[in-house]
Amino acid sequence: MLDVCLPGTGGMLPLPERWLSCCWLEYQGKAVLIDCGEGTQIALRKAGLRMARLETLLITHFHADHIAGLPGLLLTLGNQGKVTPLKIIGPRGLRAVVSALTSIAGGLPFSVELVELHGSGGDYHIGETHIHYRMLNHGVPCLGYRISYHRKPIFNPRKAAALDIPKRLYSVLHRGDSVKLPDGRTVRPEQVLDGERPPIRIAYITDSVYCENMVDLASGADLLICEGMYGDENMRDKMNEKGHMIFQDAARLARTAGARALWLTHFSPALRNPKEHLAAAQAIFLPAAVGYDGIRTILPRASNERALN
Ligand SMILES: [Zn+2]
Ligand SMILES: [Zn+2]
Repeated sequence: MLDVCLPGTGGMLPLPERWLSCCWLEYQGKAVLIDCGEGTQIALRKAGLRMARLETLLITHFHADHIAGLPGLLLTLGNQGKVTPLKIIGPRGLRAVVSALTSIAGGLPFSVELVELHGSGGDYHIGETHIHYRMLNHGVPCLGYRISYHRKPIFNPRKAAALDIPKRLYSVLHRGDSVKLPDGRTVRPEQVLDGERPPIRIAYITDSVYCENMVDLASGADLLICEGMYGDENMRDKMNEKGHMIFQDAARLARTAGARALWLTHFSPALRNPKEHLAAAQAIFLPAAVGYDGIRTILPRASNERALN
């Protein structure tokens, strides 16, 4: 099961009641954090997340509200005793930015591996986790991400019982290995498995004006997390000029891409109560929800549960 949390949902600057936007994805005890603005380590702590599980940090772009919290986070991880490597992935220029920021975070007890993603889009794999990235439209190199988590095929206990397989061997077959039974028979995984399950897909899109690359990223997402600086139509032109979207743009994206759910995030500091504008987003995409610091869900959801709010 994938644990998804938004420890912060603000844009531009942290507020006393709203940390900067970021996203925590935890699967099988390993966590990915997307973006790390000023104060993100406090937001993680407030949300009750276990920083020691962090293995990968994805950066969307190098505006301060998305990366300025990096040195502090690294120092805290070091002070907590992290010794396993941390991978940091981001757009071109990552190496220079991280090396400048880490010049004030020396002596870390763990290694940092940097991965610069080039071109207008592509794919990167970490084990069975698949990261698909595309360039957005924000005036500086800015990547949107779709993270897909591979799921094990369906195990059929009735088939296993019919073959008299000891229960202690079920997990071996489920992970795809053959087993030899005490009576000498060999059982192959395909004899007890019922086929593949689709991956769990999360799309994370901020900051950008609406563009076609977003539709590709959000296509078929179980959850689209997307920026909406304001919920007022009158703010669209002004926001688009600054390289941002409003609630209605995000809702249109979710609908066009066939996403199953939408969490809005990266609110303007001037937007004090984003929920006032939820109806405007739901008029376009009914399952839309307004994110808030600490919003959390477990995926996949049962098929009879619809909205993720
Ligand atoms: Zn931003
Ligand atoms: Zn930005």
